[in-house]
Amino acid sequence: MTDIDGSAVAAEIRSGVANCVETLTEAGVEPALATVLMSDDPASETYVSMKQNDCEEVGIEGVHVDVDSEAPAAELYDTIDELNADDGVHGILVQMPVVDHVDTRRVLRSVDPAKDVDGFHPENVGRLVAGNPRFKPCTPHGIQRLLDAAGVDTEGAEAVVVGRSDIVGKPTANLLFGRGEGGHATTTVCHSRTEDLAEHTRRADVVVAAAGVPEMITADMVSEGATVIDVGINRVERDGESTLVGDVDYEGVRDTAGAITPVPGGVGPMTRAMLLYNTVNAAAEQHGVDVDLP
Ligand code: NAD
Repeated sequence: MTDIDGSAVAAEIRSGVANCVETLTEAGVEPALATVLMSDDPASETYVSMKQNDCEEVGIEGVHVDVDSEAPAAELYDTIDELNADDGVHGILVQMPVVDHVDTRRVLRSVDPAKDVDGFHPENVGRLVAGNPRFKPCTPHGIQRLLDAAGVDTEGAEAVVVGRSDIVGKPTANLLFGRGEGGHATTTVCHSRTEDLAEHTRRADVVVAAAGVPEMITADMVSEGATVIDVGINRVERDGESTLVGDVDYEGVRDTAGAITPVPGGVGPMTRAMLLYNTVNAAAEQHGVDVDLP
């Protein structure tokens, strides 16, 4: 069994992104990512500050806007409009989930599609489904890159995605069965109403677990030599301590799988790296600069 080292692959991507930042800077463009937070959730605050630190590391300018969680929803929509109009901002990320009195769909629709580095605007979702993505959503793109780094040929492979969310399951399936590099897999999407999940996962060459259920994928559900990508991030109590586990029973599955991503250190760092990738890509597109994307 091989561990797929997401931290190492992400570090390579960050280094390539830093080169793109240099190219852009030489062309007079300082790439900038705006993060927007309208939530009191401590986890969301942590995610946003991690994204800002990542920007700093590769030379992307980080701009952060906190919108008071008690403020009327219009304040968030106005903030997005201002960032859309600001030529010095190339990517906009509104940290989800936003507070309840805000219409999430309106937020997703409000971000200029050219600056939508999450890839969640309906136009960008449509382009992905049509096989012509502008920005591949960060987690699915990171998964595709991890499979490539692990030497997995997806063409004609059986892939099973467990989970059908808009941010992970659906776009991951689209990339896996789509045309192009890292695609052409025969892809099945399983979800909470799937009758016999193990029957599907057992025939898979590639299993992507994105259900948010701690350690639900066990050794008997995985075929010998399969590649297992664990997207899950679940906090559980173990021996009286709080710890992070994925959706895969890592210790059980690692003997059966051919390759597996650990949690942490697998998909997580890739999600963050692909956001930086999308940001330099956005800046390059908006200013017509050629960059050598990693
Ligand atoms: P979600 O809750 O929006 O969707 C979960 C999906 O799993 C649903 O489609 C549901 O039908 C399916 N599901 C739930 N229970 C199931 C079961 N028993 N059998 C089969 N399918 C089942 O979650 P999400 O936003 O897609 O995230 C999934 C997991 O990935 C979470 O643990 C989340 O924290 C994690 N995540 C990690 C990253 C990362 O960068 N590593 C990024 C996004 C999400």
